[in-house]
Amino acid sequence: MFTADEAERLGKQGERVILVRRETTPDDYHGMIAAQGILTSAGGTNSHAAVVARGEGIPAVCGADAIKLSPADGTFSANGISVKEGDVITIDGFTGNVYVGELPLEESVLEKARAGEAQAREEKIWKAFEALMAHADEVRRLRVRANADTPDQAKNARERGAEGIGLCRTEHMFLGEERVGAVRQMIFADTEGEETKAYDALAPLQREDFVGIFRAMDGLPVTVRLLDPPLHEFLPNQVDLAVEVALAESRGEDVEERKAVLQKVDELHEANPMLGLRGVRLGIVKPGLYAMQVRAIFEAAGQLRREGGDPQVEVMIPLVATAPELRQMRDELEPVAAEALGGTELSHLEWGTMVELPRAAVTAGEIAQTAEFFSFGTNDLTQTAFGFSRDDIGKFVGMYEERKLVPANPFVTIDVDGVGRLMRIASEEGRAANPELHVGICGEHGGDPSSVVFCHEIGLDYVSCSPFRVETARLAAGQAAVGAAESASK
Ligand code: PEP
Ligand code: MG
Repeated sequence: MFTADEAERLGKQGERVILVRRETTPDDYHGMIAAQGILTSAGGTNSHAAVVARGEGIPAVCGADAIKLSPADGTFSANGISVKEGDVITIDGFTGNVYVGELPLEESVLEKARAGEAQAREEKIWKAFEALMAHADEVRRLRVRANADTPDQAKNARERGAEGIGLCRTEHMFLGEERVGAVRQMIFADTEGEETKAYDALAPLQREDFVGIFRAMDGLPVTVRLLDPPLHEFLPNQVDLAVEVALAESRGEDVEERKAVLQKVDELHEANPMLGLRGVRLGIVKPGLYAMQVRAIFEAAGQLRREGGDPQVEVMIPLVATAPELRQMRDELEPVAAEALGGTELSHLEWGTMVELPRAAVTAGEIAQTAEFFSFGTNDLTQTAFGFSRDDIGKFVGMYEERKLVPANPFVTIDVDGVGRLMRIASEEGRAANPELHVGICGEHGGDPSSVVFCHEIGLDYVSCSPFRVETARLAAGQAAVGAAESASK
């Protein structure tokens, strides 16, 4: 299926769907989670489609640039083969291959065992797996957390051995029919009063989200990242809307409302949204937004604490480039947190940032004076260190690998010499300035075994990865510790 709405419709009828898009945006989320597989022609391993699919455990092939999509005719073609919407295809998320027709599929032995569906042979494999994981846990030094945005993802991560949440992205909390109205009200607000009204509508919904997540991770740390993506992502696509307005106008329909939305979409349009009004910049320009999120976080945490729970909160300010950005945000937000807690004390509370810009990495000593934790956002750090767009890398990364211009896809495995060097500098200078600083990683590399080994080598405290990769990370962390011990004894 070529649209998220169709994928959702058929998925709800029990059909098995592969959603095929050029790329995905948060607007496609409902169709993505209804699909068994996701295929995109643009993007790569760190694009929106890949990150969401990995978090949800949905097989995906992202950035298959041989595929030419013609959604208007309901077809895509690749290598001279044309596939119609509704035809059956099979995808292999490990190799990136796409097959016409239905291939025989085999379920993972471990997943079957986990679901309690194991036969004798699988039971034996499961026991061996558990013994191996117990050994890895015994020897590893790195802690392993998960990137989880919903209570279900948090529960799944915990069952796989996650020791907390290293990244809870709050953007999905701005989606869904009920919320989009309030989000648009906030974007369209002309007066402070209108904006406050929109925040008031969102706050209770956010609070409920946080209650669910803190409850699922009770007793373990949860890093909540304040909103990062640019606001236009919560409005309809500019081109689609312009076409819709033009068509509706030619049919003589009343288009006033849609025109107003289009005007706002045009106003918010950015030439380089990845480098635009997002992350902490959004927090600075729209102060009520982060204040609303922080209030919701701490009202939720306070409530659970008073009920006898142990919510452990870490607030992450994203995309910080300068120490004053973080300082000003903390100055504005800490009083909001204190007021929301109303005197209730939490057992663990930290404020920190995602280090995902080269400037932040090389001025880490200064930023660390204002931060209790750093978490390396190696998706954006790789994007900004190389100047490679994470949403377009699929077009040429294969050639770069073939020609040995890079040792591996840097969005999969940390580029030790460049991005890794920035991480090393930031972690050393950050800790020198603030010896109490906790340092982790929450970019997609946190679940890549050789990147996990690198994180061990530079002395990070934890890695955070998608729930489905938690066991891979635990094993790699154990292997890193054993490898380090072996080389030390040689
Ligand atoms: C990152 O940039 O590495 C990160 C974890 O944040 P996001 O992928 O949401 O930009
Ligand atoms: Mg980022």
